[in-house]
Amino acid sequence: MAKCSICGKPAVYVSRAAGLALCQRHFLEYFDRKVRRTIRRYQLFKPREHIVVAASGGKDSMALLHYLHNLAKRVPGWKVSALLVDEGIGGYREYTVKRLVDYAEEHGVEYYIAKFKDYIGYTLDKIVRMGREKGLPYLPCTYCGVFRRYIMNRAAREIGATVVATGHNLDDIVQTFLMNVLGNDWAKIVRLGPVSGPANHPRFVRKVKPFYEVLEKETTLYAVLHGLYTGFEECPYAQMSMRWTVRRMINELEERSPGVKYSLLRSLETAIGILRRQGIGEPSDEEGLYTCALCGEPAAHPICRACQLRLELGIMEV
Ligand code: SF4
Ligand code: ZN
Repeated sequence: MAKCSICGKPAVYVSRAAGLALCQRHFLEYFDRKVRRTIRRYQLFKPREHIVVAASGGKDSMALLHYLHNLAKRVPGWKVSALLVDEGIGGYREYTVKRLVDYAEEHGVEYYIAKFKDYIGYTLDKIVRMGREKGLPYLPCTYCGVFRRYIMNRAAREIGATVVATGHNLDDIVQTFLMNVLGNDWAKIVRLGPVSGPANHPRFVRKVKPFYEVLEKETTLYAVLHGLYTGFEECPYAQMSMRWTVRRMINELEERSPGVKYSLLRSLETAIGILRRQGIGEPSDEEGLYTCALCGEPAAHPICRACQLRLELGIMEV
């Protein structure tokens, strides 16, 4: 059994990329240092913030909620609450909602649930069926991602949040990076940095990713060590997504050449720098976002992606 590189106790964590093994105590210190470094380096938070954690009830967002809830106890100007967007995915979401509600009630965290049904008019299950009947070319994750981002911004603003923290980890980010490269979708890549905004739009709530430099296996271990990872539910649509394949590919590469994930993250940062200099990407902070002509929400185009999808689905009247 591997021994902690610092104190020699049995290790709970091994990093081949860093040539490091850590016991529970030293892993948690390492994890904390890593997240704090990201928060400092990218200036994710201000002295006074209402941070709303985009919580799905899954392991990453539960780990983030736990981490920020505890950190905020030592920062007087911070308030941390949780916001869950319930897409209405039968046989899945109800379990993760329960995990969030149980945690929030036990730890005294304010929480809010925003439903697809209330904001869009239909559950994701129903939207996926309607899309198929209409012969639209989209996978479930497309509707899910677009509507979830739309609702998250609206609901966060409605509850008075000043910033939304999402549980995206390094693995999620490099997967999205590669998916966008595969789809030749360079404009979306500039969005993948640790902070989006402050965009020059009064309705846009800033988004930050405190786990930007933390591996998925590290957030998972953090969640396990704090008793936050009590079951593994998987979205029934997950296997249909391109992310599923890209994730497996990157994990295989990492297995063969430890450190590949960190290299991809550094490549992403280089790509963002180059794209910004070339003026490629979504409207910059200086230019400001558009205001959707149909719903009035901030948008990257004159009509927001959520309204475009609603028009295609035939569930929006103009
Ligand atoms: Fe939504 Fe796709 Fe994630 Fe399921 S796997 S929750 S459909 S984004
Ligand atoms: Zn719109």
